[in-house]
Amino acid sequence: MSTIPFSSYKSGYVSLVGAGPGDPDLLTIKALRCITHCDVVVYDRLVSTEITQLIPDGVERIYVGKAKGKHSVPQSETNQLLIELARQGKHVCRLKGGDAFVFGRGGEELLQLHQAGIHADVVPGITAASGCTTYAGIPLTHRGLSQGATFVTAHAEKELSINWQALASLNHTLVFYMGLSKVGVISQSLCQHGLSRQTPVAIIENGCTPKQRVFIADLDTIEKTIQGQGVKSPALIVVGEVVTLAAELNWFIAQAQSQLEKLSA
Ligand code: SAH
Repeated sequence: MSTIPFSSYKSGYVSLVGAGPGDPDLLTIKALRCITHCDVVVYDRLVSTEITQLIPDGVERIYVGKAKGKHSVPQSETNQLLIELARQGKHVCRLKGGDAFVFGRGGEELLQLHQAGIHADVVPGITAASGCTTYAGIPLTHRGLSQGATFVTAHAEKELSINWQALASLNHTLVFYMGLSKVGVISQSLCQHGLSRQTPVAIIENGCTPKQRVFIADLDTIEKTIQGQGVKSPALIVVGEVVTLAAELNWFIAQAQSQLEKLSA
């Protein structure tokens, strides 16, 4: 039983909900309850089809993500849409991939809602760094290999302003979001600031979905691997010794294979 009922607001309101990295079973109970009990779901590209299929027929759905060959709806328009829907008295579920507060612009949306006097709450989701590494058999921390993990976005409006010196000296797991197009800069900068070219790297594409692909490389070969394998977004880049555990701990693919074998037996 939840301690915080969604319906405590009398007027319209917005729930900023993290949908997790793809597998619908990774939704929180609170997220699922919001999706099935709200009036309208406003979602973007990273919300998987398996999850949008959980939106009941009677609930309105509005897509604000990037359409093929087009730009996504500008953030200011999405903010305005949320405000207008709430002012119509609706309970709006603003559904985002992963966690809304991790590289998800959830903070910006919440600020705008507060400024407009709209009630809002936030439902945390499993962020890609956690979900995708787990489904790739890579513990973010591991005794003897990594005492911590740092999440970094490789996306920037203009130039990247990352403190590479600090990152390279951490000696623990680094997880890069939105790093595909910047992989050359990432590997070169980390090596220039002291990491070995043989530092293990994993690339996880479409993590936590049936389309998940995991490639293991090192800082020297990662760019070629991404090009050679035609890796596409969404993909996560994981740098650090914990990546070596994937060969042994890779439970997700192993499970899928044994299920397939059972089906074909
Ligand atoms: N708020 C989201 C992150 C949004 S930024 C979260 O908490 O997870 C978008 C980036 O997240 C993508 O470019 C990719 O680097 C990463 N990402 C999100 N979902 C992913 C998935 N299923 N597989 C691999 N990477 C993913």
